[in-house]
Amino acid sequence: MTLAIDGGVPVRTGTPLPSPLSPEGRTFGPEEEEAVVRVLRSGILSGVWGSEVPALADEFSRLMGASHAVPCSSGTAALHLAIAAVDPAPGDEIIVPPISDMGSVAPIIAQNAVPVFADVDPLTGCLEPDDVEAKITPRTRAIMVVHLFGKVAPVERLREIADRAGVLLIEDCAQAYLAPVRPGGPLAGTVGHIGCFSLQQYKHISTGDGGLAITDDPALADAMRLFADKGWPRASGERAYLSFALNYRMTELTAAVAREQLRKLHAVVERRRASAARLATLLGAVQGLNLPADGGDHVYWYFPLVIDGLDAPALQRYGAALTAEGVPAIAGYLARPLYAEPVLREAKAYGGSGFPTRGVREYPDGLCPTAEALVSHRLVVVPWNENFSAADVEDIAEAITKVHVAVVPS
Ligand SMILES: *Cc1c(COP(=O)(O)O)cnc(C)c1O
Repeated sequence: MTLAIDGGVPVRTGTPLPSPLSPEGRTFGPEEEEAVVRVLRSGILSGVWGSEVPALADEFSRLMGASHAVPCSSGTAALHLAIAAVDPAPGDEIIVPPISDMGSVAPIIAQNAVPVFADVDPLTGCLEPDDVEAKITPRTRAIMVVHLFGKVAPVERLREIADRAGVLLIEDCAQAYLAPVRPGGPLAGTVGHIGCFSLQQYKHISTGDGGLAITDDPALADAMRLFADKGWPRASGERAYLSFALNYRMTELTAAVAREQLRKLHAVVERRRASAARLATLLGAVQGLNLPADGGDHVYWYFPLVIDGLDAPALQRYGAALTAEGVPAIAGYLARPLYAEPVLREAKAYGGSGFPTRGVREYPDGLCPTAEALVSHRLVVVPWNENFSAADVEDIAEAITKVHVAVVPS
């Protein structure tokens, strides 16, 4: 069969698959509309004086089984609250994976700390605990783990490693809402000292932008609340500025929509899991295709395909061919590992000074070979969606099978 990219008939004709940039690919309904109107009519749009932001904090912490939740303006902001709560001295180190959104790394640089990259698992792209342990030095202050594409990273092992080293574990859960770390186990975000979530347009639930950080530790919660609000201790009634901090506050409009989205989250995750399981069944016989490992601990932000036997141009062709068949796909997920981006490789943060990394850490090619292989020639991701129908999933399976057979040498 001729691939659509070569002029053949695409598998998917007619309506495009639901995407997060269309109403069909989101779960916004009359509930969110009413929430927005409710806030506007209250006259209070700021979370400092309103009721929606505190209610969201209460509802999210209860949903997650955490003692505290701090709403803020984005997932990156939530991670910045976490790094600020770690309170690194300049030059202290924080261990991160090279496959993530830059939002995982930028807050480390913003706090003048040094990102140290550990390599990842060859199938999940999540941090490899042995390599994390090898990267710990006397200057390590925290480990940040990312639950990539919705798959739970080995957080319980990482928590042991963090505890042994006397450092904090931060979980970046922007892609992993309501993911149990093992059947019947705690949720991702509650094993580490702090868990961070995003409400950006593409996540499981959205307010356009927004974020949440959770913790059981009251001191970390206080530090994060202060960092989101210029160091101002609102509860005391005093106009004081207790610490260096920015303004990362969430608004009432955002919180009101987030509360409605939260009520839909269980169903969103269940539907994503059910359709992903169906796709995995349909693709089970495809040779040279590694499907995501799922022990009930994957909530499918994206559906990752790990492919054996391709070079970099063939991987690009695989992604482009799938997209041409009507199944939007991204070869490699990133253009390059995060450490190859200019902010790290060229130390482009602070006025040409090279601070805080130049002469301290190098970020050369070969730093994390397993991550580099995934991004350059092994990984293709298909953005997943709770509103995929059974017929949509069949189209996706047919397109992947067609492209795989045509592109991968047998
Ligand atoms: C989306 C995302 C972020 C950043 O969240 P924003 O809300 O876009 O700032 C951080 N980490 C990961 C893994 C993400 O997917």
